[in-house]
Amino acid sequence: MTNMDIANPSEEHLMLREMVREWTQENVEPQAHEHDREEKFNLELLRSMGELGLLGISAPEAYGGAGLDAVACTIVHEELSASDPGFALAYLAHSMLFVNNLAYNGTEEQKARILPKVCSGEWIGAMAMSEPDAGTDVLGLSTNAVQQDDGTWLLNGRKMWITNGCIDEEGTPADVVWVYAKTGEDERGRVQMSTFLVEAGMPGYSVGQKIYDKTGMRASNTAELVFDDCIVPEANLVGEVGQSLLHMMGNLELERLTLAAMALGIGRRALDEMNRYATDRVAFKSPIREFGQIQRYIGESWAKYRAMRAYIYDTANNLTIGTSGQRLDSDGVKLFATTAAKEIADAAMQVMGGYGYVGEYHVERLWRDAKLLEIGGGTLESHQKNITRDLFKDGEAINR
Ligand SMILES: Cc1cc2nc3c(=O)[nH]c(=O)nc-3n(C[C@H](O)[C@H](O)[C@H](O)COP(=O)(O)OP(=O)(O)OC[C@H]3O[C@@H](n4cnc5c(N)ncnc54)[C@H](O)[C@@H]3O)c2cc1C
Repeated sequence: MTNMDIANPSEEHLMLREMVREWTQENVEPQAHEHDREEKFNLELLRSMGELGLLGISAPEAYGGAGLDAVACTIVHEELSASDPGFALAYLAHSMLFVNNLAYNGTEEQKARILPKVCSGEWIGAMAMSEPDAGTDVLGLSTNAVQQDDGTWLLNGRKMWITNGCIDEEGTPADVVWVYAKTGEDERGRVQMSTFLVEAGMPGYSVGQKIYDKTGMRASNTAELVFDDCIVPEANLVGEVGQSLLHMMGNLELERLTLAAMALGIGRRALDEMNRYATDRVAFKSPIREFGQIQRYIGESWAKYRAMRAYIYDTANNLTIGTSGQRLDSDGVKLFATTAAKEIADAAMQVMGGYGYVGEYHVERLWRDAKLLEIGGGTLESHQKNITRDLFKDGEAINR
């Protein structure tokens, strides 16, 4: 077991990492600062990832995907995020929130028709769960769907904060959206949720607004979506009526792992920037890395970075895509890594003084982007709640 690297457990994983790192250096890094500043999403760059086989990374090869595992998904998110977390978020919304969800939960007809398009980049996908008045409280949603006599569904409501909800500055909606809607109540009076595939051009589906002036993740588009008597064909209901919670639970675990992977990319890059700066910058005739207070920033950041890397890849190696039951750690890694990334970016900014505070030196962007990871895909508080609940059910997890 010498030279075992938990983050590159096989030769294939290492090759994937090297390929994505090189591609990111050449294609993502040069555009990151400008797209953040202009709040612009690089649609063509995302589409071009289809040629690399990365848009359908976890989807079966039979539908145009790469059929890779959770470690591979983690590697790609870490590498992209080390250059441009905003772009990485758009990639995550497409490949994890839409493509992976469809690959594991869609019907045969839906997969055969839509997966090749989203795996190639011809279509861009999004996932719409959150609403203006319901986020953490998922079952508090008010978007609803009612089946008509002809079998079609009539969808009404608004979705908020949807990454890739619009794909340009003209308000063009995503080609296809995975939408959660209320379809009634079960016999015990609990909200029943169902999942619909809404495609561009369906009557009543439009973009309400692109949301501007976000703190971070400005290179990804965030939009409000409107469904106004939107007519959805019967064939676009995913699975059975009332199955959304099953879809949501399985996919959320991979979503949280890959959001944690984005935090890892941020932490790694911020540490790298502060480490180099601390050698180059001289004050009082010494490189600043010789000062004890600077050493504390670097030393603590290294330990946090290594701890998050180990926990994230340990979780990735044990996560089977398409199943649920690994929430304790998918919540655990996101809870730990997102705050660690924010703290490392903050330390980097402090070490870099005035330079750290301006865009050209990257870390202020990483610092702003890191904050979203404590909110999106589940807030810190929701992870604390889930972990405490799961440890009540299975306290033995602590001693295993
Ligand atoms: C840039 C961006 C991109 C996003 N992309 C998407 C996307 O693609 N698709 C999508 O569906 N959503 C997306 N979201 C939405 C995101 O997932 C939600 O913002 C998040 O789930 C929190 O919901 P909320 O904003 O409604 O806050 P709320 O749920 O209203 O929470 C407000 C505060 O109350 C706390 N709180 C709530 N309930 C409890 C409780 N029971 N116990 C303790 N504290 C509680 C929360 O932790 C939080 O601190 C995105 C958000 C942003 C900002």
